[in-house]
Amino acid sequence: MGTKGIEIVGKDVNKLVEMLNKALADEWLAYYQYWVGAKIVKGPMRDAVVAELLQHAAEELGHAELLSNRLIQLGGTPLLKPEDWYKMTNCGYEPPEDPYVEVVLDQNVKGEQCAIDVYSKLVAFTKDIDPVTNEIVLSILTDEIEHEEDLQAIAEDIHLMKERS
Ligand code: FE
Ligand code: FE
Ligand code: MG
Repeated sequence: MGTKGIEIVGKDVNKLVEMLNKALADEWLAYYQYWVGAKIVKGPMRDAVVAELLQHAAEELGHAELLSNRLIQLGGTPLLKPEDWYKMTNCGYEPPEDPYVEVVLDQNVKGEQCAIDVYSKLVAFTKDIDPVTNEIVLSILTDEIEHEEDLQAIAEDIHLMKERS
């Protein structure tokens, strides 16, 4: 850890580390929800849905990477135990117990909407105190907004297909 790099963040560094670890818990749970969802999902446009879910899984893992690297720079430790993901999560985990595409998409849309809230708060929190973290969480927020839109667009296509058939 770099002492000067931490010093510029000031008194809020511990709060920020906690917020980043909570977001990290969300990312791991989101990663697995997408990854296992892609394995089990069934229904119309399955191949397109699987491709999108796998792409999002990879991107959530990328977010976990970004958050962990920044946590370490700030003198924090990324969560060390999977059981802490459940304790720390903001957005929770929805097991895809019903494999039908529309249900899986809807569960993941909810997760993205929660992620958008989480990163909006992180963007606001870091705005005046930490430009480096601010840039990272803003880029993640941009991805989460894209994820929500991607899922809703597929859900809309499935809906239209059913309506016209
Ligand atoms: Fe994410
Ligand atoms: Fe996402
Ligand atoms: Mg996508």
